[in-house]
Amino acid sequence: MATNRKQSDRRPPYRRSKQRERILALLRSTDAHPTANWLFEKLKREFPNLSIGTIYRNIGILVQQGLIGRIAFGSTFDRLDANVTEHYHFICERCDAIIDLDLPVEPGLELRIPTSEGFEVHRHAVEFYGLCPKCAKRA
Ligand SMILES: [Zn+2]
Ligand SMILES: [Zn+2]
Repeated sequence: MATNRKQSDRRPPYRRSKQRERILALLRSTDAHPTANWLFEKLKREFPNLSIGTIYRNIGILVQQGLIGRIAFGSTFDRLDANVTEHYHFICERCDAIIDLDLPVEPGLELRIPTSEGFEVHRHAVEFYGLCPKCAKRA
């Protein structure tokens, strides 16, 4: 028992938090809302023991810490967002681009949810769908 505890005290999640720092830095370097797979491709050479599971675990921790956001993206992969200020998204139906919109966030929307019916609102998200400027020009 005592040995176990000592061992876990002694085991700083050093490598893991180094990876986590790199994950966060990479996410902050782009506004493309990348996937876990994108991170894996970028980091696997730097960390030869890296697994996609480790990426997912670290993403979970970063989300929990409020350092990144996660956009559930239909039936495909979640997209990640290091911009944690509230903002709305435009999602391109052709190329899957997710673009941050420079629109004021409407806190009033949350007041429309009837708390009398027992709802407790924490946040809201708005997504616009269509063609991004690049795809619209090609269409
Ligand atoms: Zn597009
Ligand atoms: Zn965003």
